[in-house]
Amino acid sequence: MSRLAVVCGGSRGIGQAVSVLLAQRGCRVAVVSRNVEAAQDTVACLRGADHVALSCDVSKEEEVRRTFESICQTSGNITYLVNAAGINRDSLLVRTRAEDMLSLLHTNLLGSMLTCRAALRSMLQAQAQAQAQGAAIVNIGSVVALKGNPGQCVYSASKAGLEGFTRSLAKEVASRNIRVNLLAPGFIHTDMTAGMKEEDVARSIPLRRFGKVEEVAQAVLFLLESPYITGQVLVVDGGLQLSM
Ligand code: NDP
Repeated sequence: MSRLAVVCGGSRGIGQAVSVLLAQRGCRVAVVSRNVEAAQDTVACLRGADHVALSCDVSKEEEVRRTFESICQTSGNITYLVNAAGINRDSLLVRTRAEDMLSLLHTNLLGSMLTCRAALRSMLQAQAQAQAQGAAIVNIGSVVALKGNPGQCVYSASKAGLEGFTRSLAKEVASRNIRVNLLAPGFIHTDMTAGMKEEDVARSIPLRRFGKVEEVAQAVLFLLESPYITGQVLVVDGGLQLSM
């Protein structure tokens, strides 16, 4: 049977481009987001059959448990997990409400922890049944976790937390031949950056432009399919961190 990939945050932006590329590579894709209509729209664009769309808020433990159980019952064991679900709430720390801090941490950090745990149960079960196909996880972090950015204290903390989580989890599951890596994008054209003026920011990017979602998806695929890479952070930012 073809590989099953779960893409959290697959309805838009980076996750949608990852879903498209994985379907082109012959994977069956489970597209997960809170808005199920948007996830269905993504599924409608995917090449091949047997893709599914599911509504799930990744920050809610019970919803994640039910969603992953439903995916495995319908589609079998999971080979790939991509955690692209994320939010930003940019503001200076002194103006940031505790509830916004919690939303950021719950979606960007706790959400990935919950989905990794749920997917690992399936990946380990596949191994027990000798059906494993090189299982791998890619978490989407951010270049701001590496260098910091004013107005993004909590966002960058959530992404820095994800880095530590990724490295530790990579060590926990390496003996089972499950790989876990993190991809740290710079500025990418999506809804998340729609309010920014590219020309104002681009001069600080060595490649002088924002990235395209397809360029990030290509790098996600590289990490998923590279059998000897685990616990790594791959920066896809047009050189931004060199000049930060
Ligand atoms: P978008 O805003 O375009 O898409 C975000 C996706 O996440 C949507 O599918 C959204 O669907 C989903 N999502 C958000 N919250 C939840 C939730 N609680 N549960 C389930 N799904 C959720 O963002 P991008 O594609 O730009 O970002 C993808 C990832 O890349 C994020 O983690 C972001 O932090 C990171 N990133 C993006 C950068 C950029 O420049 N664009 C730069 C660095 C990192 P729905 O709203 O229906 O739930």
